Amino acid sequence: MSVAFRQMQTLIAELLVLAGCLCVGAVAAAFYGFSDLGETVVLRAMLFALLATLATGLPFMLYASLRLQKLLKANSGLHRVAVTDPLTGVLNRKGFEAEFRRRMEAMNLRATQGGLAFFVVDADHFKRINDRLGHPVGDQALVGIAAALKRSLRGGDIVGRIGGEEFAIALNCTNQDSAALVAERIRATIARLSVGSGAARAPLSVSIGGSFSASAQTYAALYGQADANLYAAKKGGRNRVVLTAFKAEGGRYRLSAAGGHGLLAR
Ligand code: GH3
Ligand code: MG
Ligand code: MG
Repeated sequence: MSVAFRQMQTLIAELLVLAGCLCVGAVAAAFYGFSDLGETVVLRAMLFALLATLATGLPFMLYASLRLQKLLKANSGLHRVAVTDPLTGVLNRKGFEAEFRRRMEAMNLRATQGGLAFFVVDADHFKRINDRLGHPVGDQALVGIAAALKRSLRGGDIVGRIGGEEFAIALNCTNQDSAALVAERIRATIARLSVGSGAARAPLSVSIGGSFSASAQTYAALYGQADANLYAAKKGGRNRVVLTAFKAEGGRYRLSAAGGHGLLAR
């Protein structure tokens, strides 16, 4: 259900409550204003007050709700623009963080099995691609990486561009090993891509830092651990995944058991 549709439902419910209050108020005013003129007069005055309120109020409310519907649609279009990265079409940092918070709230409410995987995906040696092939080709590479990330994920997963050549992904996962397999699949998919043409062709690759948590965590906490793992992946030679289970600061990381090319555990 879209945000605009939910807002419209709320608005209509509020307008109906307002109409009800106006009717009750008009009928009560007629009752007190005409009660000394006999039962027939007071009943007719109350009926008149009710009909007059409905006859004037309902068209007004209909008009107001149609106008507001258009405003809400325009507003949701603006909201989409505000949370979307214009180059790649995935969520921008602000949109990703907001969507992530919604996921965490849902995860807190549902007592479901499984957990959440958080990946920070950073293009390798991206500066070199820009320097060698030019900024526009670098942009194409970012679009290609974002498209590959979107293709790799399922409906409920979220992906955002949280920095220049850095993306983040949050997905529901049953356990740490399946999170590591998903990260590895993403890495392998991007390692098959390239940009440019002919002799000016450059292969693409990404390093992925990941964190798996069985329970809801803050964005900052998961990002912090995934980013530390990204640093390890870069240091370990790039084009690889380092993923660990989330542990609160000071705790010990559990090593990832999943294998696969370039998968490091610490
Ligand atoms: P590393 O493997 O260590 O991540 O190296 P790197 O070269 O990818 O990292 P570095 O931080 O040195 O450079 C990132 C580059 O990404 C520099 C910057 O010009 C480029 N970049 C950032 N945003 C964009 C963008 O929107 N378009 C293009 N074409 N390049 C971008
Ligand atoms: Mg980079
Ligand atoms: Mg970077």
